[in-house]
Amino acid sequence: MLATHYIGRFAPSPTGPLHAGSLVAALASWLDARAHGGRWLVRIEDVDIPRSIDGADRMILQQLADFGLLPDEPPWHQSDRLADYQRALDSLIASGIAYPCACSRKEIEASLMAHGQTRARNSERVYPGTCRNGLQGRAARAWRLRVHEGEHHWTDRRLGPQEQYVAQAVGDFILKRADGQFAYQLAVVVDDGAQGITHIVRGEDLADNTARQILLQRALDLPTPQYLHTPLVLNALGEKLSKQSGAPALQTNEALLELNAAARTLGLQVQSSSLGDWLAEATAQWRARWLSAQGQPGKI
Ligand code: GLU
Repeated sequence: MLATHYIGRFAPSPTGPLHAGSLVAALASWLDARAHGGRWLVRIEDVDIPRSIDGADRMILQQLADFGLLPDEPPWHQSDRLADYQRALDSLIASGIAYPCACSRKEIEASLMAHGQTRARNSERVYPGTCRNGLQGRAARAWRLRVHEGEHHWTDRRLGPQEQYVAQAVGDFILKRADGQFAYQLAVVVDDGAQGITHIVRGEDLADNTARQILLQRALDLPTPQYLHTPLVLNALGEKLSKQSGAPALQTNEALLELNAAARTLGLQVQSSSLGDWLAEATAQWRARWLSAQGQPGKI
């Protein structure tokens, strides 16, 4: 069954060249789009300007092209989209869902300690809500989303039913940082909405963000796409490969070797030895696995 309307995307941050872990997400999102007869977009997520590396976007697009993964439209850059993020933030402020925050990281830590709370999530403290009811005369530094109590449920095509109590796990999260940069959560949701993304296929390390992103989609009156989070590639120490931990760049002169490794992570065994045939065979396998078995998670 082909989706009548499918737009997928791969959304790398240009913090370095792609590695074996990012190829898994790129390949899976491309395969899912092709298997559905849909469109596949690439979005360069350079909203975090201090972390972006000059030229990494061109390097990533060249690597993708070397693997035969060509976007159907010219890639967007988030650095071109700041006015849209501000417009979205303004609408959240106008409806009272976003509020200004004057707290520094130190103040947040001090407040949590004073209340005997030391909960941390990925080294981020859960915001104690100090500025929820006003700045008490202090100057605004950042903007946060007001998160209401309650459990949030969503279903991942691979991981199955998921739940997160966002207010406890994350708290009122940042939309625009004290340094003026828009947060990933806001940028990704605004762009997925603006590009009409219907299906998100990305690495499992991002699954934890999904509940927050669905909350933001609802707050901005945007549709919620379907999600599929792919298995992570681990190094010899069992750690997730990442640009930050120095994962080696992909060898594009060994395209089929790299693609075969990515395919194995996705539970595919592709035999073809020319790139075009390889991609067609992988697409057929993906279609058989994911389009005839929708709603049966946990297969890889
Ligand atoms: N830019 C994010 C990253 O490279 C991915 C965002 C997404 O796929 O939602 O980790």
